[in-house]
Amino acid sequence: AAVRDLRNKRTKTVCTYCGVGCSFDVWTQGRHILKIEPADGPANGISTCVKGKFSWDFVNSKERIRHPMIRDEKTNEFRKTTWKEALDLIEQRFKQIKQNHGPDAFAFIASSKCTNEESYLMQKLARQVIGTNNIDNCSRYCQTPATMGLNRTVGYGGDSGSIADIEQAELVIIVGSNTCESHPVLATRIKRSQKHRGQKVIVADLRRHEMAERADLFLHPQPSTDPIWLNAVANYILQQGWHKQEFIDRWVDNFDAQRESLAQYTLEFAEERTGISRDTLIQVANWIAQSKTVCILWAMGVTQHCGGSDTSTAISNLLLLTGNYMRPATGAYPLRGHNNVQGASDFGSIPNVYSGYQKVADEKVRAKFEAAWQCTLPVQDGLDNHEMIRAIHEGTLKCLYLKGEDTITSDANANDVAVALKQVDFLIVQDISLSETAKFAHVVLPASPSLEKEGTFTNTERRIQRLYRAMKPLGFSKPDWEIIQLIANRMGGKWKYKHPSEVMDEVAALTPLFAGVSYERLEGYKSLQWPVARDGTDSPYLFKDGFPFPDGKARFHPVNWVEPSEEQRNGEFTLHLNNGRLLEHFEQGAMTYQSEGIRALTPTNFVEVSPELAAEHGLSDGTMVELRSPYGKAKVPVVVTSRVQGRELYMPLNSIDQPVNRLTGPHVDRATHTPAYKEIAVSLTKLGEQ
Ligand code: SF4
Repeated sequence: AAVRDLRNKRTKTVCTYCGVGCSFDVWTQGRHILKIEPADGPANGISTCVKGKFSWDFVNSKERIRHPMIRDEKTNEFRKTTWKEALDLIEQRFKQIKQNHGPDAFAFIASSKCTNEESYLMQKLARQVIGTNNIDNCSRYCQTPATMGLNRTVGYGGDSGSIADIEQAELVIIVGSNTCESHPVLATRIKRSQKHRGQKVIVADLRRHEMAERADLFLHPQPSTDPIWLNAVANYILQQGWHKQEFIDRWVDNFDAQRESLAQYTLEFAEERTGISRDTLIQVANWIAQSKTVCILWAMGVTQHCGGSDTSTAISNLLLLTGNYMRPATGAYPLRGHNNVQGASDFGSIPNVYSGYQKVADEKVRAKFEAAWQCTLPVQDGLDNHEMIRAIHEGTLKCLYLKGEDTITSDANANDVAVALKQVDFLIVQDISLSETAKFAHVVLPASPSLEKEGTFTNTERRIQRLYRAMKPLGFSKPDWEIIQLIANRMGGKWKYKHPSEVMDEVAALTPLFAGVSYERLEGYKSLQWPVARDGTDSPYLFKDGFPFPDGKARFHPVNWVEPSEEQRNGEFTLHLNNGRLLEHFEQGAMTYQSEGIRALTPTNFVEVSPELAAEHGLSDGTMVELRSPYGKAKVPVVVTSRVQGRELYMPLNSIDQPVNRLTGPHVDRATHTPAYKEIAVSLTKLGEQ
């Protein structure tokens, strides 16, 4: 029998819950977590939020998967098995599918909960070993439109500066971000700056959440109209001659087209369509023009729309127009949701680029990877998550390998995804617990959470940080990077990584963005913000010497507002349902609901209803209602609150029991296929008191 380890151990780790990337020490005794102690993290100092401090019980939960499992063909039930039998089956099925249908019958979904090294290996497995670019990650569900908006205009899909820059800005504009609940420690730094430095804060949102309450100016636009008010403010600034002509002449292309495109966005038009008064729009323009430094922050309230990429682009256009790039305390800050949303894409788990956003279509880049990986690589861009589900429906995709991703509770249109998952020939799910998606799998592989492995995460400000192993993997579970390597080698990969640091060394050698990244330079609480030069010089601030385009200039990318589709506004579905995070929970709660104290704070999902709508339907706190959309229904109790207005509703997304994605539909961002989770029309029926 194992001897219980009674020694206390202190291990540096990085929080597994949000893009702020708080670092702290975890004190353990064997598998027992004694306490979380923030030391002096580069992003968080000595702060954490309730999740980082108290939500670690999932590590020892009875819900953890301890063995590989395969679906028994006769009973259709899972049975525990050995790694050997699971890998034998994977090898046999992979070879069969590859032989019969070719490499593009495979698809791979990586996770922003896993490490950078694991993201790199997942795309290497797809590309080098299997021969397909069908690799994506869950940032497709949230942040890809922000990256698109920035790539179109300034060339790097990352925060312009650091969290410290946000704190130093004279004016912070927050669009579609419930910052106090989704990025709590970052929100605290803004609150401090507002109180002690006189920083001005503008919040634009449908819901009057805590940050909106604290704002110096709160804008409440009609749903899906953000590009209108952003363009109208830009147009007014131009008309007043408050734009930065010298900056534009030197650093930005395409000004004439932008000026022409903005002309239609008058204050009158904006007032009529957004509901924001003319005077308020002028005030916003005034504050931007008068502030020496402006940062704009945004999150899923912007990105998860049919026009998510366009709104992100409009934000960047406004910053370019007013010269709010290339200086400290200015710039664009898409707030990455999960702990490693930034890194999952940075390290190549997307269908059109290798690590460091090197394009698969670029012959020179491809030749470099072919030489390093000793293979012939696929030329065509692969499928994104949305297209993968479509390809399963169409019968062309036969095998899906998901790592750390509970697609059925996170992708929009859950019922449609369920049909696809039932249909796919071979489904592997690799996770720490038996997720709803894993219940459809043919093989389930037990993975290890962050405390049981080494690696790196990249936070929202492009900061790469190390995490260390605090305890051994539970049962027969293994770190994801080890599992991917086992599968690669069964398929002839000949990989020999003994430690994730060797993966990082390979990435650094092949990726200019990470040329100087090494584990040595990331030791302990040290961190690096990309791009990192070969000599280890990193970049707390982007665009110091220009923009990463051949001519060194940024470019205006004119965008126009497109009216939401008729289907979303007509018929019986007359209420608008918004959704977002709760402070206490992460995703659909598979991890955070394992902590009893946290669970007690928010035991069930609910829907927020305005006092006007509550009066119309005879609702009070606790009344059960059924919400219906064209795609599904959910039953939840009501919370009556003036945080929401009129015919707008708000429902947290952190629920396995009544997930909001039963109601969301097939609409996606026009440029990136990110689901339009924030464009849901529903009806409401009163069921009775709880
Ligand atoms: Fe920090 Fe975010 Fe973790 Fe909270 S959830 S401790 S803010 S990284």
